[in-house]
Amino acid sequence: MKVTVLAGGVGGAKFLQGLRTHLQQVLPDGAGGSSARITAVINTGDDMWLTGLRVCPDLDSVMYKLAGVNDEERGWGRAGESERVSAEISAYGLGWPWFTLGDLDLGTHIARSHLLREGLPLSEVTARLAARWNIGVELLPMSNEPVETHVVLDEPVLSDASGTIHFEEWWVRYRASAPVREFVQQGLSSAAAAPGVLEAIHEADILLLAPSNPVVSIGTILNVPGVRDAVVRTKAAVVGVSPIIGGAPVRGMADACLTAVGVDTRADAVGLHYGARSSGGILDGWLIDTSDAALAGDIEAAGVRTLSTPLWMKDDRTSAVLAADAIAWAEAISSQNIQRR
Ligand code: GDP
Ligand code: CA
Repeated sequence: MKVTVLAGGVGGAKFLQGLRTHLQQVLPDGAGGSSARITAVINTGDDMWLTGLRVCPDLDSVMYKLAGVNDEERGWGRAGESERVSAEISAYGLGWPWFTLGDLDLGTHIARSHLLREGLPLSEVTARLAARWNIGVELLPMSNEPVETHVVLDEPVLSDASGTIHFEEWWVRYRASAPVREFVQQGLSSAAAAPGVLEAIHEADILLLAPSNPVVSIGTILNVPGVRDAVVRTKAAVVGVSPIIGGAPVRGMADACLTAVGVDTRADAVGLHYGARSSGGILDGWLIDTSDAALAGDIEAAGVRTLSTPLWMKDDRTSAVLAADAIAWAEAISSQNIQRR
């Protein structure tokens, strides 16, 4: 069974961990692995160069989580971090003082930047880094070309008179509170999907949208030339998981991104934003939380098969149960589609 997942950072990482746990339980191959193949297409729109180093926040959030070396409490970076190197860089007046990178994390960025400068594409660099951790999930950056989400603000901020800042500056420094005119993805028009991305979508048995930021994680991946079209055309059932529960993002400030693009922070509004594949959108199925069950009507009416089930990923076990629900819902939709044909 081939399962492909489109994912951002933290929400994507938790979901992928649960998916790996679930599939290893139900499809063991007897050799400690799983006969299922999980391919994760990860957002790289948050990437940036910082003091000469290429930082890929979402790829690293996913890699660290699947490797079991992430910082659970903080929600990003490595567990057991120190920040001596960042402090030295700041003392030279360099870097972003509001964007601290831990020493262990910097090791990843140094290794990545070295390999990129050797001429390897990001997809190969990512495979090389992930090989160290044996994570059992194939990680693909959405593109090998740099695509960076920038935020055009309603009013210029002190740091930038042009009024356009990198997404991470808006997110981390301004806590997503500076009013947004629009998100622009620099480099997008000349970017292509990384090798394996379109194939992983076309050849999947099941395609899942992780409960990731619909605008700046999943939205960015879908905007890479060819990706949305591949999702629309895949033979796999396409099932998404709502990142919004009870009118709020479980963690973080995804509501600010939704507001900026005119989408209400509600599970049904996000489902409708993705739209039904039967009418020009990308979803066959949508998972909403049990507490949002009353919202199913409008999404169903739009042609998206909606299941309400617990969506809180409190730990690996609850994430695995959610992943199992998503897989079962995709299988149910597939078998119904076959019966209808
Ligand atoms: P980022 O790149 O680190 O911001 O992470 P993602 O794009 O993967 O997703 C962040 C979103 O994941 C948050 O805004 C939440 O809406 C969602 N999220 C985080 N934890 C959970 C959870 O336990 N359940 C669900 N359904 N969504 C979650
Ligand atoms: Ca991100």
